[in-house]
Amino acid sequence: MADDICRICGKEGPLSFEHIPPQSVGNDHTVKLYSGVDAVKSSLTGQDDMEGLKYRQLQRGQGFKTICSSCNSYLGQNYVKPFSEFYRATGQQILVSDFQEGDKSIHFKTDRLMPLAFVKQVMSNFCVSAGDMHDCKDYLLDRESTVFPQRYRLHMFIVDNLREQKLFTGWMVPIFADYTCCKMACIRIPPFAFTLFDLSSSNKVPEWPGNITDLARVPWGEKPGIEFHLPVLKAANHSPLSWGNVG
Ligand SMILES: [Zn+2]
Repeated sequence: MADDICRICGKEGPLSFEHIPPQSVGNDHTVKLYSGVDAVKSSLTGQDDMEGLKYRQLQRGQGFKTICSSCNSYLGQNYVKPFSEFYRATGQQILVSDFQEGDKSIHFKTDRLMPLAFVKQVMSNFCVSAGDMHDCKDYLLDRESTVFPQRYRLHMFIVDNLREQKLFTGWMVPIFADYTCCKMACIRIPPFAFTLFDLSSSNKVPEWPGNITDLARVPWGEKPGIEFHLPVLKAANHSPLSWGNVG
């Protein structure tokens, strides 16, 4: 049964529950789970907000049951802690700094982040929630691998609506006015949000700011000084399609 295939290693067997976001950063939030297809439909009809869209409310600490327990524990042992530490330290810093009205981007420097672990945690969340990413298996299951599949581009944002977490299941394929299209998946873990593009199935990918793909190839263990320039998503920009239109 397709339902019993692990979305990371591809093996068939019993699946275990993966928390998105990790329990250590998201346990106290309620998460609204939207279908990516519905979100795209809403954008196509000109509605920029997602009011009225169907969603499934997930109770605290919930996630997806799409990967095996062996993959789940490998991710947990290697990526969750570096991700959570950065999330708590930098996320808090961003929260207390308060958004200025009209802020279009947020800048900060850090030398406490291990980029490879951080990106792998985010990519594993995409594998779990969007699926069809078996080419990430070696990258995710060998923590030292820097062979990030060429077909992906990862963007990071800051969100100013901190009250709710939204997850989107599956890939979305918005079609632009000139009939080009791109394939993308989205995750919001306030104060951060991420968009993953699949370049191999897109004939136009928006030139959005916040491209952090280079961090996916920094060797394991290294914590270089990194300067982030991240676009701020306004609360009104609920639709993933408008995420990049901030500058
Ligand atoms: Zn697995």
